[in-house]
Amino acid sequence: MIKANSVVEISYVLKNITGEELDRADAKEPLVYLHGSGQIVPGLEKALDGLTVGTSKEVSLPPQEGYGEIDPKLKLKTDISIFPQDVDVKVGMEFSADLGDGKTQHFRVAHIEKNDVFIDGNHPLAGQTLNFSVEIISIRKATQEELSHGHAHGPGGHKH
Ligand code: ZN
Repeated sequence: MIKANSVVEISYVLKNITGEELDRADAKEPLVYLHGSGQIVPGLEKALDGLTVGTSKEVSLPPQEGYGEIDPKLKLKTDISIFPQDVDVKVGMEFSADLGDGKTQHFRVAHIEKNDVFIDGNHPLAGQTLNFSVEIISIRKATQEELSHGHAHGPGGHKH
């Protein structure tokens, strides 16, 4: 049974509310995560709690239980001159920036208009309802090392 500190292998298909497929992990290459560590979105973690191997489940999550609502403050207009000259700035490019408070924020270039570069720090799935079809493939106890790192190791898990 899935509980805190279980290492869980799942396969899943993730669709949005219009039925468009956003992401998947097949049984051949499952997702491996440490339960209770926040490695997967909060609503999915809650929905999987207590499930057993072989169980399939449909889970529908509103944005606040998934990747959060869209934060307009993370949508910024910048000038192309803030990028190093040797960088070929393109839509879809990702980078991290220090916002001045010591925290780094991940951004994606959303749109470019002449010298204006519109960047977005929201997760690409923020603001979306997430419909997961999940199957539990295996469950095991986490090792001490996994617990101290806060994530699962091994195939499909965290690589160092
Ligand atoms: Zn580790």
